[in-house]
Amino acid sequence: MTDSPEYQVYAIRFAHRDASYRWEHFYRGDPHGGAPMPIDYFVWVATSPEATVVFDAGYTPETAARRGNRDYLQSPMETLGALGIDASTVEHLAISHLHYDHVGHIKDFPAARVLIQQKEWDFWNAPSGSRGDNVHHWEPGDMEYIASQIASGRVELVDGEVEVVPGITLHRTGGHTAGLQIFRIQTAAGHVVLTADASHFYENIGSDRPYALVDHLYSMHLAFDTIRELADSEELIVPGHDPLVLERFPAVDGLEGLAVRIA
Ligand SMILES: [Zn+2]
Repeated sequence: MTDSPEYQVYAIRFAHRDASYRWEHFYRGDPHGGAPMPIDYFVWVATSPEATVVFDAGYTPETAARRGNRDYLQSPMETLGALGIDASTVEHLAISHLHYDHVGHIKDFPAARVLIQQKEWDFWNAPSGSRGDNVHHWEPGDMEYIASQIASGRVELVDGEVEVVPGITLHRTGGHTAGLQIFRIQTAAGHVVLTADASHFYENIGSDRPYALVDHLYSMHLAFDTIRELADSEELIVPGHDPLVLERFPAVDGLEGLAVRIA
């Protein structure tokens, strides 16, 4: 252990979608094996007396309504408020990747410096981001906002492994998207890894079967290795979209179904 601070980590569940199926969640899944497999949407926060870092920025109720087939439970900013964290004063916001479900509320963290991998921005801010299916994975308003914040210097485009604050690091894995990054946080229980979409479900990493949406397949397998190297135990690996997170970690009093304490 180093003497850098230990953080408390929470997963905040802000939306849920029942209408999804197993085959949608695994690379080359068989559409005939169509058992339901619901998906949750999260942001995460790590907080200590020294610093607070929010990971990912969800999507808005308006985006939820437009895309349909999902329940928007409560804004992540409201749940953060119930945890005693004021979104308007958060100083650090790290974004795993630029799919719509991870960037919609960046403007609701106006004081935060925002950390995005350069490779991720470059992919979406080029013709590659609009080829084929790619065009469905982002919202034009979100990308315009991010571009404006790059211009103003609030968004920092980073490259590879980066320390956000002592005890919290970002690690680019790619795989699911060109510049996807995962998050490692020092806690009293050891190092937690928030995988975001490097492993949507426990079953992706557990069965070595990547998610269906692929930028580079072998990098998705290597990301599973990186996750295990960075986490101090299997129990401290937190997948990005798995409803089981709500069962494996204790609910925060008064925020049942909305927030669990990871460590
Ligand atoms: Zn996602």
